[in-house]
Amino acid sequence: MKSNNKFKVIAKERINSLFEQADKTFKKNPKLSDRYITLARKIAMKSRVRIPRELKRKFCKHCYHYLKSGVNLRIRTKDKKVVYYCLDCKKYMRFIIKTKH
Ligand SMILES: [Zn+2]
Repeated sequence: MKSNNKFKVIAKERINSLFEQADKTFKKNPKLSDRYITLARKIAMKSRVRIPRELKRKFCKHCYHYLKSGVNLRIRTKDKKVVYYCLDCKKYMRFIIKTKH
């Protein structure tokens, strides 16, 4: 059980660094960014680690492309929701804005 935890920590680190690399390479090679995302998702599934919420917003849940605001992502805020529009697959994602009260 303990070693499993350690495994998960390593998996999380790898996921984080893959997202970092996806961000870095996006300008030059967006296709490679998508591959990093695919890889990160595979690691998450295999190791049963959840992709952190802030990272989940960095890729499209429909086509799994890496999303960059102003490039292939449009962000709108409506009521208490943020609406992400993926310009690659033309689909929407909705997130609820959390208010701390
Ligand atoms: Zn998409």
